[in-house]
Amino acid sequence: MLGISKYKKLKKLSDKQTSALVASATKAVSTGGGKTIDVIYCHCCNLPVFEDDAFIGQTEDSADAKILCGLCYYPRNLDMVRFSDSGTLIFAPDLTQTQVSSLALVMYYAKSLASESQDMMDLISDVEDLILRRSEVLNTGICHGASTPSIVCQFMYMMDESDYEERGKLFDSVRLFPSEKLASRQLAYLSTNVLKKYHPDKWGGFVQAMGKQIKASSI
Ligand SMILES: [Zn+2]
Repeated sequence: MLGISKYKKLKKLSDKQTSALVASATKAVSTGGGKTIDVIYCHCCNLPVFEDDAFIGQTEDSADAKILCGLCYYPRNLDMVRFSDSGTLIFAPDLTQTQVSSLALVMYYAKSLASESQDMMDLISDVEDLILRRSEVLNTGICHGASTPSIVCQFMYMMDESDYEERGKLFDSVRLFPSEKLASRQLAYLSTNVLKKYHPDKWGGFVQAMGKQIKASSI
């Protein structure tokens, strides 16, 4: 759920605890020729995390400290992101934050492939329209500015602790759709590994299916 770092409950970890936590998120990955490298994976979305982009934070399911990537950490700590890089808030009760982040990654990737295909660009802009519509729902349904992370962040800062604990009543259906800049580290990794496996021709159908899915569950 969306949050800010002000009322964070997580206790500061000792160096030993921090090392153990990082070790629990690290796996040896083969680079071929019998060699391996250590890669840190996000405890929340399982995507690889670059060392300087790894955060220690919490998710809603437990009070334990976890290693989180930026895309999992920033929505829960909105005040820690540079607002010019943050992205937009959207109404998405049907999607988890991890799903919204994945959607953004796939969109940005497909966009990077689409420069020469008008059909693909059209498909992507249809999906972008649907995302924007979900962002507008917050502005018209709650109040003007409700889709802007910096405004929501200020609002949360003004809440006292008991109101903040109850913020789910207001923000349970709201997710952060990350900007391309915020997603850039994960995107760089996925573009050279996972997503590259799919032939560019497949992306048209994929983006179309994505659009249909969002439209079907749109309000
Ligand atoms: Zn993550």
